[in-house]
Amino acid sequence: MTSELETLTEEILVCEECHLKLGRTQVVPGIYGQKKGVCFVGEAPGYYEDMKGIPFVGKSGELLDNMLKDIGLTREKNVSILNVVKCRPTTDNGQNRTPTDSELRFCGERWLYKQLSLLAPKLLVTLGGIALKFFIPDGKVTQLAGQLVKIDESNHIFVTYHPAYVLRKKTLEMMEEYNSHFEQILNLYQAENFEQEYKQVKEIDKQPIKKINQKSLEDFL
Ligand code: URA
Repeated sequence: MTSELETLTEEILVCEECHLKLGRTQVVPGIYGQKKGVCFVGEAPGYYEDMKGIPFVGKSGELLDNMLKDIGLTREKNVSILNVVKCRPTTDNGQNRTPTDSELRFCGERWLYKQLSLLAPKLLVTLGGIALKFFIPDGKVTQLAGQLVKIDESNHIFVTYHPAYVLRKKTLEMMEEYNSHFEQILNLYQAENFEQEYKQVKEIDKQPIKKINQKSLEDFL
């Protein structure tokens, strides 16, 4: 980890900028692989991640790790795993819940963009519809899964499903499709130039990874 990433992570770990601090056990900043590698982005930590401080450690994480192993990639070596939101969102009775749009925007712009600007991933992979929505507000996983989307001059997103969704579906077709997505991820990671390799780069409504924004939480509520 570079010293800049270390400093940033220390700041993330003590963040008290929003109400999610009230329901968390700890902040889950993410894990870092090499610079210019592949960066997977999920939505937010759940129960197990909140307990351990590590992203994707429950059943979804097990599937993600197996998918990575099948294509010869390993978390922390060539793969970074981050979430848009760094603290577990909970319901009033302590269950996991989906982060709201304001939580996504607030935490994502405050921390995720900074992590991405330091990691400079060659390829970003969104896991599921919530992470996709952060980068492409009108993007639908059902329409974009398995496709590479160019979101600005230097950032490409490969869109795939959240492992929890794949586990819920549990069909052979879904597993085959998920396997083919991970093969594409490996091909993209190894490719010299995405746009020559892949024709499906889409110009759609997108949220460029841009200015690091220091708006206050109120601006998002
Ligand atoms: N789901 C996510 O989106 N992120 C995690 O870290 C765990 C489950």
